[in-house]
Amino acid sequence: MGRSPEKMMKLSDSVIALNVPMLSPVLGPTEIYPALLKDEDGLTLVDTGMLGQFDELKQAVEDAGAQISDIRRVVITHQDIDHIGNLQELVNRIPGLELLAHADDIPYLNGSLPLVKFTSERIAQMPGGFKDLALHFLESLPGLGKFTVLQDGDMPPWGGGAEVIHTPGHTPGHICLYLPNDKLLLAADELRVVDGKLAGPVEWATPDMPLALRSLRKLEGRPIARVLCYHGGLYEGSPQPLIEELA
Ligand SMILES: [Zn+2]
Repeated sequence: MGRSPEKMMKLSDSVIALNVPMLSPVLGPTEIYPALLKDEDGLTLVDTGMLGQFDELKQAVEDAGAQISDIRRVVITHQDIDHIGNLQELVNRIPGLELLAHADDIPYLNGSLPLVKFTSERIAQMPGGFKDLALHFLESLPGLGKFTVLQDGDMPPWGGGAEVIHTPGHTPGHICLYLPNDKLLLAADELRVVDGKLAGPVEWATPDMPLALRSLRKLEGRPIARVLCYHGGLYEGSPQPLIEELA
């Protein structure tokens, strides 16, 4: 069933916020906001949605007037399962897909280290069907292919020009992307929108909260006017007051 197209947000000529329904084993039904960056050479997808919920991602991409096959590269903001869940599906469907992530999360993404939060202990507590899917997914990680390394301060050309900001704490290699043309921050999980208000990283899923709060300071010095949060969606305004309160 198609969803109302107004759920998808065109933030500028080069940035679309996808609205993807997600059924989380922890949170229940919720929504997530991957981003689609449009450039002449194709689309850049920022984060991939929840494990086992590829159809929801595909529908959201189509609602945005695009096709999965138009995606040229996938940027992973961090290793959590609701961000990397459809990596395997995307790699299988898109020949030559480029994968990018921060150097400090790549060892987890390629299976050299166990994922920080999506651990075998946690998977063991999950319902049967999801557990099997999760174990299969973990086994698939070493076969995904090579990740291109992103570093703090990188300025890739996606979305008309972006800046990589390394914001560790939620995971070691968590990144935000700043799009100066649109004064837009793609905050991933460094910020959230809760009841219309901007909030910091969620405590229960942030293993190093003091570091995540210090990372907020790294967002300063840019004229951010809008923040897209993976959890909670778009916040219209500057994150500066919240950063001063928390960091
Ligand atoms: Zn998340």
